[in-house]
Amino acid sequence: MLASLGTMPALLRQLSGLGGCTNPIRLDGHRSEYALDTATGEIGPLVHHITSDQLPAGHLLVRCNNRRTTRCPACAEVYRRDTYQLITAGLRGGKGTPEQVATHPRVFATFTAPSFGPVHNRPDSGRCRCGAVHPADAPELGTPLDPDSYDYEAAVLWNAHA
Ligand SMILES: [Zn+2]
Ligand SMILES: [Zn+2]
Repeated sequence: MLASLGTMPALLRQLSGLGGCTNPIRLDGHRSEYALDTATGEIGPLVHHITSDQLPAGHLLVRCNNRRTTRCPACAEVYRRDTYQLITAGLRGGKGTPEQVATHPRVFATFTAPSFGPVHNRPDSGRCRCGAVHPADAPELGTPLDPDSYDYEAAVLWNAHA
């Protein structure tokens, strides 16, 4: 990537917004912001429009938000801290949750997503379905064995609604 000196401050601003993410996702496209009447919900005039090729990096860069330290230490740390705040607020209140929650019964529930297709993993037997024995930090872990048949749409929708 080449950046002229004139675009460096904008590029640094764009990169600092990533909070140290080492593996940002590059998005192409445009973003339009419209005024919103919060009383009526009515969408008003366009107030801001930007296309990704106008940005210093040539893409809109967003944090990868990966939870695994081996993939992205910075995003995994943000996830770790957010999880701590979320759990403690649920147990003793705070962050907009009333302190009265501390008197409530506590349930630790975990929810497992359905399968959207086989992915590379590290089973107890040691060998992934692809035939390889993946090391713990292998980048392919969790990625589909067959991207053509993996149900990405269902995976996105399930996670969006979770
Ligand atoms: Zn990241
Ligand atoms: Zn595999």
